[in-house]
Amino acid sequence: MNTGPAATNSPVATSAPTSANSAVATAATAIVNIASLVTNDPSLGDGTPLGLIQDAAVVIDGDRVVWVGESSKAPATDNRVDAGGRAVIPGFVDSHSHLVFAGDRTAEFNARMSGQPYKAGGIRTTVAATRAATDAELSANVARYLHEALRQGTTTFETKSGYGLTVEDEARALRIAAEHTDEVTYLGAHIVSPDYADDPAAYVELVTGEMLDACAPYARWVDVFCEKGAFDGDQARAILTAGRAKGLHPRVHANQLTHGPGVQLAVELDAASADHCTHLTDADVDALASGSTVATLLPGAEFSTRAQWPNARRLLDAGVTVALSTDCNPGSSFTSSVPFCIALAVRDMGMTPDEAVWSATAGGAAALRRTDVGRLTAGSRADLTVLDAPSHVHLAYRPGVPLVSEVWRAGVRVV
Ligand SMILES: [Zn+2]
Repeated sequence: MNTGPAATNSPVATSAPTSANSAVATAATAIVNIASLVTNDPSLGDGTPLGLIQDAAVVIDGDRVVWVGESSKAPATDNRVDAGGRAVIPGFVDSHSHLVFAGDRTAEFNARMSGQPYKAGGIRTTVAATRAATDAELSANVARYLHEALRQGTTTFETKSGYGLTVEDEARALRIAAEHTDEVTYLGAHIVSPDYADDPAAYVELVTGEMLDACAPYARWVDVFCEKGAFDGDQARAILTAGRAKGLHPRVHANQLTHGPGVQLAVELDAASADHCTHLTDADVDALASGSTVATLLPGAEFSTRAQWPNARRLLDAGVTVALSTDCNPGSSFTSSVPFCIALAVRDMGMTPDEAVWSATAGGAAALRRTDVGRLTAGSRADLTVLDAPSHVHLAYRPGVPLVSEVWRAGVRVV
């Protein structure tokens, strides 16, 4: 992933204590004087799922965390960075976005928010602009939004194709995405291509055949928008199983606008994630609770379309693993801000601040089947966000305030 412009400010380092610690290389960096540290390791600190440690330190060696604990017990290192009594959390893991696009849909959003009738087909506007854009324009757009997200604390980012809808344009989108992140998703099945409006079956054949062959080398995941007006359950099953046969792992846009088969299909195929989960039956919730598919909630979409919120409380009470992501895209959720999504989830979806922060870090990692990110414990990647606040709770308590003061990614301070 592109980490944006190189850091121009070096960490404020002070001279290290002289005694060496055998377990930690002295070339390591200790971030000390952390008021509260979210580790997401329940065996640490207060024993909650956040594994919260007060008066904490994190020691980084290379791109890894090598030690976390109470600041007073931090091992000796050459470099010490004073967090100044701020909170530190794992970098956000945004497991759902659509960043390979061109064009602008301001007028559509403005009309929707002004109460004017909204006609579907907005995705087609973006498809036309994306097809017309150059590789350089698309790549610059991805880099721009990734940097925007990084400044807001996101250190791991998934992104998808889905605005090309031809063999060449989908493969191009994924090739460009793969230049910026390892978490790349083939979404040729975003909508039926306008070129195949009269023959959706032929489009499914393309998506499961020639387009898949061209796209699979660049992608880790295969996704489908399983929804009325997009792809039905049988089509979605064909697309996901074809992708799986090519080594891609499924994830599903499921139950966003209406009840439908998407969630059940996701669980049945062991998809890493069922995304949106806004309209769920009790059977859907039970299926999620009994499987290993994460429910990824995307409140930016409900915000930007004035739609009903997903009920996070219902899922959490049933024991479902919940992730929280932005769905950043130019039509229905044009935000790259995970803190904004945390605030919405706490205010309107029944999540506690602790749950929302967990879901935006460890939950996102679970939705990408990653264990090296979304947590701060010995061995995890040194991706962390320093908040200009004494506690992670401020992310919901102070909505809209830019609280991210530093971001470290793979052991390097990048913001
Ligand atoms: Zn989406």
